[in-house]
Amino acid sequence: MAAPASSSIYSPLRSSQRIPRGLCNCSPPSASSISLLPRGLRSTSLGRIGFSCLSSDQILTRVAASSAPVMDPTKGEVSLKVSTVVDVDLGDRSYPIYIGSGLLDAPDLLQRHVAGKRVLVVTNTTIAPLYLDRVVEALTRGNSHVSVESVILPDGEKYKDMGTMMKIFDKAIESRMDRRCTFVALGGGVIGDMCGFAAATYVRGVNFIQIPTTLMAQVDSSVGGKTGINHPLAKNMIGAFYQPQCVLIDTDTLNTLPDRELASGIAEVIKYGLIRDAKFFEWQERNMEALLARDSSALAYAIKRSCENKAEVVSLDEKESGLRATLNLGHTFGHAIESGFGYGQWFHGEAVAAGTVMAVDLSYRLGWIDSSIVERVLNILQQAKLPTAPPEMMTVELFKSAMAVDKKVADGLLRLILLKGPLGSCVFTGDYDRKALDETLIAFCKS
Ligand code: NAD
Repeated sequence: MAAPASSSIYSPLRSSQRIPRGLCNCSPPSASSISLLPRGLRSTSLGRIGFSCLSSDQILTRVAASSAPVMDPTKGEVSLKVSTVVDVDLGDRSYPIYIGSGLLDAPDLLQRHVAGKRVLVVTNTTIAPLYLDRVVEALTRGNSHVSVESVILPDGEKYKDMGTMMKIFDKAIESRMDRRCTFVALGGGVIGDMCGFAAATYVRGVNFIQIPTTLMAQVDSSVGGKTGINHPLAKNMIGAFYQPQCVLIDTDTLNTLPDRELASGIAEVIKYGLIRDAKFFEWQERNMEALLARDSSALAYAIKRSCENKAEVVSLDEKESGLRATLNLGHTFGHAIESGFGYGQWFHGEAVAAGTVMAVDLSYRLGWIDSSIVERVLNILQQAKLPTAPPEMMTVELFKSAMAVDKKVADGLLRLILLKGPLGSCVFTGDYDRKALDETLIAFCKS
């Protein structure tokens, strides 16, 4: 697999300035709160199609996340394994995100969310030997009424397609899975997105549980109900919004995750800081070394704070009519890299990292942010060992043709998420100078 772009690739706004690193300071800032009603929400104030993003502290408070230990109702005792539960508040489609160490060995958590007697675990050839037996055990221990089947898919982004998804349906039909069955996604974002889409469409919708095993999936893809597959011409183009019954994050699964996959997930953690949570970004600047060294409390805090940010956004805008789009900072450029370079050549987070630098470059060219933000973004991505420029084979034309079919195109107008104002503020807008976009593309491409 090709390595991420090296620093020799031209990156127009690269800085050599280093962010000072502090000691790991993993204690979370004060109590977690979640919002339903934004204060002073301004929309369509930026031209034809625009959306102004709120930072997390501009939002009215409604408690929907907590870091308290969890009471296990089946045993009447405190379950010490679950260190945090973040609730995704979506009315009758609300669900908990359990975060903690050793949760794969906590059968009650999984079993309380299984509907019916049939379960289909969807996983891949890498994850099955590591975790499938434990998940089957957790689903069935003390519960002989449940029978579990599994389907093991080939591993990789290039298999996130219709043909591979058909294997899930084949297994479900062969195993006589009925309307009351539960699909369980055990794996990274590729498995979660595909299994979720299969659950959304199999007999028009069955129960669905997410057990994410990559940092990318734990901080982002397993939360919020976006499911789907790639089309050869466009990433994640076919899919559905479909919420799970619960998300079970066993942070111990990160122990087997290779370094490059870990760094890929950090790209999405950085995103939350940039678009809406400046304090979290500053915490990351101080703790990047601890995250890369897999310090367990640093990782647990990064996962919790990321899930809280995502839960807040999803609760406000489940179907992406505006605010939720801001979670796609850097993704329009990043998706163009993924489809243009070939699915799986770079990990999703690597493409998003390079795309974020391009979005930040454009924001700066537009005069919307000052140069210190550009430098901090470059520094933190370099610290995380993520690419800060697209692969050399990407041309302006490749970017333009991929971006023309991006899901954020509306009536022929490409809308982008761009930073605007102080750290932690962004806009989702189609109202920007096209000349500046051309300049950014030219600056990052050799032809
Ligand atoms: P991935 O699912 O391909 O996983 C990366 C690699 O890690 C794979 O080889 C996988 O088998 C392996 N792996 C997974 N868990 C492991 C573990 N615990 N130990 C060892 N190896 C392990 O990639 P990803 O980065 O998790 O997810 C990327 C996908 O997620 C992309 O398709 C992207 O579009 C999607 N995504 C979706 C959303 C959403 O909201 N639905 C958000 C972000 C990303």
